Amino acid sequence: MNPLIPFNKPYIAGKELYYIAQAVTLGNISGDGEFARRCAAVMEERFGIHKVLLTPSCTAALELSAMLLDLQPGDEVIMPSYTFVSTANAFMRIGAKPVFVDIRPDTLNLDERLVEQAITEKTKAIVPVHYAGVSCEMDLLSTLADKYDLKIIEDAAQGVNARYHDQYLGSIGQLGCYSFHETKNFICGEGGALCLNSEELVERAHILRDKGTNRQAFFQGSVDKYTWCDIGSSFVLSEINCAFLFAQLEMFDEITLKRQQIFDAYYQSLLPLEQNQQLRLPCIPEDSTSNHHMFYILLPNKTIRDGLMKHLKQINISAVFHFVPLHSSPKGRKLGYKAGDLPVSELAGDCLLRLPFYYELTPEEQNCVVNEIQKYLSQNLNQLDPAQPLTSPATQS
Ligand SMILES: *Cc1c(COP(=O)(O)O)cnc(C)c1O
Repeated sequence: MNPLIPFNKPYIAGKELYYIAQAVTLGNISGDGEFARRCAAVMEERFGIHKVLLTPSCTAALELSAMLLDLQPGDEVIMPSYTFVSTANAFMRIGAKPVFVDIRPDTLNLDERLVEQAITEKTKAIVPVHYAGVSCEMDLLSTLADKYDLKIIEDAAQGVNARYHDQYLGSIGQLGCYSFHETKNFICGEGGALCLNSEELVERAHILRDKGTNRQAFFQGSVDKYTWCDIGSSFVLSEINCAFLFAQLEMFDEITLKRQQIFDAYYQSLLPLEQNQQLRLPCIPEDSTSNHHMFYILLPNKTIRDGLMKHLKQINISAVFHFVPLHSSPKGRKLGYKAGDLPVSELAGDCLLRLPFYYELTPEEQNCVVNEIQKYLSQNLNQLDPAQPLTSPATQS
């Protein structure tokens, strides 16, 4: 039996406990203290973001975004179906309606060519999700947003430290949302951030995030007592988590480089299988600089995907599928969607497999994963299997 190769292993950069001890010594372990300030400053500077507010999760940042836009019941928000549940929940819980649009077969990101036809008089926002840390086609989405007066909220949960042209993900829409969950590139257990790319929403964001009070203005000395101003919630990240996160953010470059090496090693060693049409590899367009959040492969069909996943599990390698498209989930069906509505999303749900991917993954472990994939496909794939469900990036227009 192989020693276990897990799917994910949280990476500890080194100074996490040291900074947590500092936070404790400083005497402030609730939110918006020294480490929140330092984390926000690093991201604002590096990513060119006007204001970063740390939140307890990306889910919280998405919910805060929805609250900030003052959406009314019945307002529509365009988003992919191939995403995490929080993208939709954040808008539905305030009464807005998610409108699911299919994804591109190459990047598995929101298909910008299908967005315009989904816009109605009720559409208020577009939520592009940068899947696997690869950017959506933001130029076209921004043009559409301008034309129809829509807001863009980037779900950049997987896209921290990745770019579209020379702009960092999260800095392009009016709002951007990051995740520092332990499965992401830079972590603090549970954590996230809301990126505000203009001054317009900053004051209200502070208020909504701090229980609907103007406590932030009080701390800054601009009011002499703080009070209830709006319908808010508790979306401030504790200093303990911020201290942990700061140790990770100091290692942006090291962590990203290491992930790139792991990504490249998988890519090169699996390339012959793609050339044999046995699987399809991830596609990163030229205008996108990935943060290498994950490595996935697309198998020819669900039977092969599930069989390979099971085979790997039997030999102690944990590879996992990803999103069940929201439109085909029980809640999505209640919204009136049915199987077949968004074919590319459904193929990604059925055929995608994510391989073990973490900082400490060794070349030997990677070889072991690749060899097992090769072995399984050579024994189980035959001429009768349907051709590639998703065209290979090389043949994409
Ligand atoms: C991880 C993830 C989230 C949720 O992040 P949390 O910090 O766990 O709330 C939201 N959207 C996408 C696309 C994600 O991958």
